[in-house]
Amino acid sequence: MSRFWSPRVHQLTPYTPGEQPKLTDLVKLNTNENPYPPSPRAVAAMTGEIGTDGASLRLYPDPNGDRLKEAIAAHYGEWGLTPRQVFLGNGSDEVLAHVFMALLQQNAPLLFPDITYSFYPVYCGLYGITYRTVPLDGEFGLNPRDYEDSPDSPVIFPNPNAPTGRLLPLDQIEALAAAHPNRAVVIDEAYIDFAEDAQGRIPTAVSLIQRHPNLLVIQTLSKSRSLAGLRVGFALGSEELIEALERVKNSFNSYPLDRIAQAGAQAAMSDREWFDRTRHQVMASRERLSAELAQRGFQVLPSAANFVFARHPAWAGADLAQALRQRAIIVRHFQAPRIDPFLRISIGADAQCDRLLAALDQIGVTAA
Ligand SMILES: *Cc1c(COP(=O)(O)O)cnc(C)c1O
Repeated sequence: MSRFWSPRVHQLTPYTPGEQPKLTDLVKLNTNENPYPPSPRAVAAMTGEIGTDGASLRLYPDPNGDRLKEAIAAHYGEWGLTPRQVFLGNGSDEVLAHVFMALLQQNAPLLFPDITYSFYPVYCGLYGITYRTVPLDGEFGLNPRDYEDSPDSPVIFPNPNAPTGRLLPLDQIEALAAAHPNRAVVIDEAYIDFAEDAQGRIPTAVSLIQRHPNLLVIQTLSKSRSLAGLRVGFALGSEELIEALERVKNSFNSYPLDRIAQAGAQAAMSDREWFDRTRHQVMASRERLSAELAQRGFQVLPSAANFVFARHPAWAGADLAQALRQRAIIVRHFQAPRIDPFLRISIGADAQCDRLLAALDQIGVTAA
């Protein structure tokens, strides 16, 4: 508290990010980073941008990120997306902040699930947005019908949801967007690249954008493209939704993405082969880890993300997180109603998953 603070600052409850420890010998499974390095082409593009003397860094970057927008539109070319339907931000957290201000502050309360990305209520506090949480069902499933009785209330949730990892099928997202075309429906697809439908396709709502001008999809290069440290996120939607975001962005910071980030992100978006290989490796490790945890008595929610959400009937979540920490393994525990018994465990490389399993065996976590 300070007499210099504005009234709004007195009332803020800031988001608490997962710990980024300074120690390097930890098995870090707490913030859903990708265990594999980014595309070698992205690394080459970034060092190329710096060059031998860094001369290009004298100059401001492209404020619009046009070449990166073209690469993102091309990645989703099968659905006819244009660069004017792409918005860029300094990580999807910044994109989300602009979305809350530009689209989610309406006369009716914003709706999101009771268990979801804990940054959403923080943005509401920052911008003074009223919201109503909608309970997930007993298995942490989201029922779109629960969002259909308020035609003017905008909606936001992650798909797959965080921190549960559960996926809502695409036809249900489409039904939700179609139910009330005059309100925005925002799908935060931070983890969608780790999901696949029965045909082996990523079930992204980007495929619905041209039919539903009220649908905005947000993605990030932090998870499936191994670039959490670069801070690049984007939103895709109709030109009218994107224009709202550009208006806010250009009233806030004209240059959210630096030259290195634009060069690296453009190359990463263009390297589909690396993207497919590494996301499939993560998905294979997720299935193996889920089965190993189940064998040790864990209840593991079905995950379509690069983490699993699991509880053990004989252990409190906080105690188990603490016991793992003493063995140099960090996972995420949320002290919150309904999910307090659970741990969110990021999918590491197989060797990291094995260290986690060995630690659990040492602690004595077994099926009853
Ligand atoms: C990780 C995450 C983000 C933020 O990602 P950045 O692009 O790194 O800011 C947004 N939404 C959800 C649900 C996430 O889990």
